[in-house]
Amino acid sequence: MEPTTPTLSVHTMTASPYTIGTTFPTIQDARDAVLRYTVDQKLSYRIVKSDATRRKKKLVIVSVYRPHTCPPETHENWKMASSMQYVVPRLARSFHANPTLKAADIQELELLGGRRLKYHQAWRARKQLETFLQNNNIEDTILPDVEEPPQRKRVLVGYGIDVDAVSNWINTGDGSPPNPINVSRGVYGATVGVDRLLKLLEKYNIKATWFTPTHTIESFPKQMVKIRDAGHEIGLHGYTHEHVSDLSDEQQRSVLKRSMEIFTKLTGQIPMGYTAPGWKTSKGLIRILEEHGIIYDHSFMHHDFQPYYVPDSNSQWVETNTANAPESWMAPMTRLRPSTIVEIPANWHLDDWPPLQPNPGTAAQQGFVDTQVVERLWKEQFDYAYREYTTFIFPMTIHPEVSGKPHVLLMHERIIEHINQHEGVEWVPFGDMAKEFREGRFPGVTIEGGV
Ligand SMILES: [Zn+2]
Repeated sequence: MEPTTPTLSVHTMTASPYTIGTTFPTIQDARDAVLRYTVDQKLSYRIVKSDATRRKKKLVIVSVYRPHTCPPETHENWKMASSMQYVVPRLARSFHANPTLKAADIQELELLGGRRLKYHQAWRARKQLETFLQNNNIEDTILPDVEEPPQRKRVLVGYGIDVDAVSNWINTGDGSPPNPINVSRGVYGATVGVDRLLKLLEKYNIKATWFTPTHTIESFPKQMVKIRDAGHEIGLHGYTHEHVSDLSDEQQRSVLKRSMEIFTKLTGQIPMGYTAPGWKTSKGLIRILEEHGIIYDHSFMHHDFQPYYVPDSNSQWVETNTANAPESWMAPMTRLRPSTIVEIPANWHLDDWPPLQPNPGTAAQQGFVDTQVVERLWKEQFDYAYREYTTFIFPMTIHPEVSGKPHVLLMHERIIEHINQHEGVEWVPFGDMAKEFREGRFPGVTIEGGV
């Protein structure tokens, strides 16, 4: 096979020596060059198609953006993790004894910062081990004396705001007519609700993530410009809130393609994040998000307070069918494997819609819950997480139609003020949580399961 010549294209908000089309002999050289540059300049970067290492893609697209603000010791640790100076010598003996070790085996062997290596880190270490052993005598290998920095309390808190507006009500699935009164509730959300939430966020200096169906972007352009101009992140949320579970892979691709075009016209950027309408998803979704360069998802629930790489669609399970012999369905789930999509987990218990949105005729969702009850449930989740974790994220999901109501706005004021009493709290859009995790500045977790 021909060696690949990756193209490094740099989208930058600051001056950088690299321009679109700069070429490097290998993808590794491209990554190292950007890493060196960004570390020297104290900049953050993200590789939009970082699976160059995993899937042997030839294109590496890098965005270099704002100066990052993590403390120097974290920075040092991140630099080491990326350069593998730390990990490779530690693994040399195991690799010397067993040169057939694969990246997945290395993940089982090696910890960095007390955590399991991410797959791409293990893969890099695996690549560098051969060269390391050629250049170093294993008997003389001295392990670098690295003291891991103590972790400081960090809590990334954020609102994901689903601007479903009219789309959720006209998504009847089978084309049947919606109740126009419900459509008017959607208009209320996009207008009154959005304005009140913008005011709330401004009062507390919070930048949020507005997951917006493309139907809302096209139907309420003035409102979307207000959101954009206030400096918030905007994320994808289907076209008319159609449920991904009802769509074929091709239909999902069509929706995503059109949505991304309209989105990019509004924001001038490729969207980073996605949340599945109704949190109903499909087997193919993660792969489709990867194909489209999406960085993170906010639909899955493997954890509630930690970011992680969401398992890809390969894991399989056998559905129970009691009409068949038990032997046909008594089988374990196959092993979960991480995708390249970061998960900022969804959580029904941190969502305003089920308890506070009346849906007449729906027994389980009468919507007239005292906000003090919801407030207590949300605060208790925060307090537990604060007690138990040194670092965690706290993503809340709200809707302008629901949280734009006066009694709910007052609840949010009380919740924000409660959270703000805690040390280490930073209010950030979900995209920032995902970036911190991807760049190794926020630990998160690895999701394991299956066999
Ligand atoms: Zn929604």
